[in-house]
Amino acid sequence: MAERRWMSETLFEEIGLRTSYAADRVLFEDATEHQHMVLFENQTFGKMLMLDGATQVTTRDEFVYHEMMTHVPILAHGAVRDVLIVGGGDCGIAEEVLKHERVARVVQVEIDAAVVEFSKTHFPEFTGPVLDNPRFELVIADGMDFVATTERRFDVIIVDSTDPQGPGAVLFTREFYAGCKRCLTDGGVLVTQNGVPFFQPEEVAGSVAHFRSLFAEGTCYVAAIPTYVGGHMAMGFATDDRALRRTPVETLERRYAEAGRFPTRYWTPEVQAAAFALPRFIADALVEAGAGAGAGGSGSKKP
Ligand code: SAM
Repeated sequence: MAERRWMSETLFEEIGLRTSYAADRVLFEDATEHQHMVLFENQTFGKMLMLDGATQVTTRDEFVYHEMMTHVPILAHGAVRDVLIVGGGDCGIAEEVLKHERVARVVQVEIDAAVVEFSKTHFPEFTGPVLDNPRFELVIADGMDFVATTERRFDVIIVDSTDPQGPGAVLFTREFYAGCKRCLTDGGVLVTQNGVPFFQPEEVAGSVAHFRSLFAEGTCYVAAIPTYVGGHMAMGFATDDRALRRTPVETLERRYAEAGRFPTRYWTPEVQAAAFALPRFIADALVEAGAGAGAGGSGSKKP
């Protein structure tokens, strides 16, 4: 029997941790001009995509991350028409956003066309409902450049980026968040993929400290995603409307019903409300990094 090949997540090598997944079949492996990509099948997680040694998406648990990165900001806001996705190459986020019929336009700014191309073949469950949707627009560009220059405005910006390494590093800077602030409509919401605080507390704390220098509200919310190893995953949340993260369950329920009550497998109105109740070690990490006390910032500042 051929030697079993194991794929290792190398994101946490510097802290002495590797997690490995048996690759029952390698479906694709290549280096694009931006990053190394490998897609393989694992008996437990289905298809798994890794970019530069970091797990991006698996068919088994993608629903957690994709539901929580989309329905939380959209239903907290309550009147979203224009959404910007930065990154999101596999189109899993866009597929979830488009379930909201009242969203008129979804613009996805992805730096690496190869990720979208390859997802057409290997993640048709995401790209199928998205790429031909007249409400969807794909822009191949660096998200940093886009938010610094576009004249378009958005009610929600979702940063579905890789980790702060390689092309994703710029998406964790104050300059990028200031660009997002510039592109948001009044009361708009920015949410960000912000890693696993148990291993990377400085990542979310750094982002939230930037949020609080730019927005009236900067915090994060959490979800449990099995292949984002290390417990809670943090999703950054920034807005000038302090009421949004406290949107009552009844209001979320009503908005969800108005949106058509599409099936979900992780998100519920109660889960959304509870997701902002941070475990103490995460709340403390936000304070220690100078992100300021509580979830509020020091007032909305223009970038
Ligand atoms: N769900 C995954 C996670 O939480 O890590 C992210 C999925 S998606 C594959 C991440 C995407 O961000 C990739 O397609 C990558 O090419 C894109 N990306 C990285 N840096 C970028 C940048 N500066 N501008 C736009 N897209 C970028």
